[in-house]
Amino acid sequence: TAPNGRKITLPTGIFINNEFVKGNGGTITSINPTDESEIATVSAASADDVDAAVKAARKAFNDPSWRELPGTDRGAIMYKWADLLEANKETLATLETWDNGKPYQVALNEDLGEVIMCIRYYAGWADKLHGQTIPTTPGMKFAYTLKQPIGVCGQIIPWNYPLGMAAWKLGPALACGNTVVMKPAEQTPLSILFAAQFIKEAGFPPGVINIVNGYGKEAGHALASHLDVDKIAFTGSTATGKAIMKTASVNMKNITLETGGKSPLLVFDDCDLEQAAKWSHLGIMSNQGQICTATSRVLVQETIMDKFLEKFKEVIKSTSKVGDPFADDTYQGPQVTKQQYERVLSYIEAGKADGATLATGGTAHKNVGDGKGFFIEPTVFTGVTEQMRVYQEEVFGPFCVVASFKTEEEAIRMANNTTYGLGSAVFTQNLERAHRVAEKIEAGMDSDVRVPFGGVKQSGIGRELGEAGLAAYSQTKAVHVNVG
Ligand code: ADP
Repeated sequence: TAPNGRKITLPTGIFINNEFVKGNGGTITSINPTDESEIATVSAASADDVDAAVKAARKAFNDPSWRELPGTDRGAIMYKWADLLEANKETLATLETWDNGKPYQVALNEDLGEVIMCIRYYAGWADKLHGQTIPTTPGMKFAYTLKQPIGVCGQIIPWNYPLGMAAWKLGPALACGNTVVMKPAEQTPLSILFAAQFIKEAGFPPGVINIVNGYGKEAGHALASHLDVDKIAFTGSTATGKAIMKTASVNMKNITLETGGKSPLLVFDDCDLEQAAKWSHLGIMSNQGQICTATSRVLVQETIMDKFLEKFKEVIKSTSKVGDPFADDTYQGPQVTKQQYERVLSYIEAGKADGATLATGGTAHKNVGDGKGFFIEPTVFTGVTEQMRVYQEEVFGPFCVVASFKTEEEAIRMANNTTYGLGSAVFTQNLERAHRVAEKIEAGMDSDVRVPFGGVKQSGIGRELGEAGLAAYSQTKAVHVNVG
């Protein structure tokens, strides 16, 4: 029974060939970050289990009942799954709140909404994938291209959006006719397991989607190194992304990596200050700051620094209520695990040691229940310079640094001065400046299922979502035809 009273029966195995079976890689115990209690213990996959899942996915790929199914029919199965997830969205959101700590209202209305929309968006693409005809020697020769699936796709998922990141990867992979072995994050195994129950019912043939909960070092590594896996898609930390890239080179797997960020938000003196403060807050404090595109560096034009800070602190104070994620008025729940909680606290110490000034927060939040749980006060450091660790390194928490700039040129240089390049935002009412800066910043976007998403520099390789997501899960074959 979840803290919101919802009674949930959960399968605890790994999911291969449309069946739940016991994994042989030990167990995973999911901890509730709100009160540190144990929620559930589920099976972990061993390397052999991953191998069995890959075999199932290969068989399903070679058996044309999925790959050669008319796109409309593949799409129909995906729509059916989305409908089943929608019918169960309260339970799925409860599970995400329970083992990730994210506020229930957000999990239900935002995260689950996007999961369902993403599957439907790609279901709609399933019968709209086609190649081109290219005249080569007119009257004599032409060529045409075929869009074909890549094969067996390994997908490695992080814990910040357990179902969200799964949907981003499953949607395009399935629409294109691939089969999948997915490894969820060991910190948040529950919601994907629950969602797996509806795979068979939706009509997916056995082996098309396999889900192997397990640990990164064993199950994740087994997937990334498997010789019969054709593609690896990963979202997670930059360090793990690099390790996976190396491992995946064993058979030159196609890769998509979405890794870390230290995304800048630029505030120019001609901006709407209310909007800038509101979005500076939202950009870093939503999802407990655990978003790869979180705008964790706010760069403010010197002339308006004081006015901006006053507004920013006001918004944090009036909006960022920290507390029980099942309470309706909670904006910020606990960090996902003790390890993440301690990581954020250590960066608070690093900021202090480097001489930055705490504008707000800077401590654990201990007013929830009996003082248990991994809560942190929304934290803002000012007086931050580019050399400081808190300016350069990803923290992944409700933790943001504010630094000042004098000119547009300096703002762009400072924005680009990290090894990352993922999200960014610009606040100005000067349209020319807005577009000029957008072009020069080495980073993109917010996220929307219809729009390409992905990083530059050490924030990743490749694009997900939108039409670009389909390109990442298909390959182009050229056929040359001689008619003369
Ligand atoms: P974090 O550091 O944020 O906890 P990671 O980037 O290490 O996260 O993990 C993201 C995903 O990558 C998880 O599913 C994790 O199990 C997996 N993973 C971790 N290490 C490896 C590895 N060496 N090979 C493959 N997958 C891994």
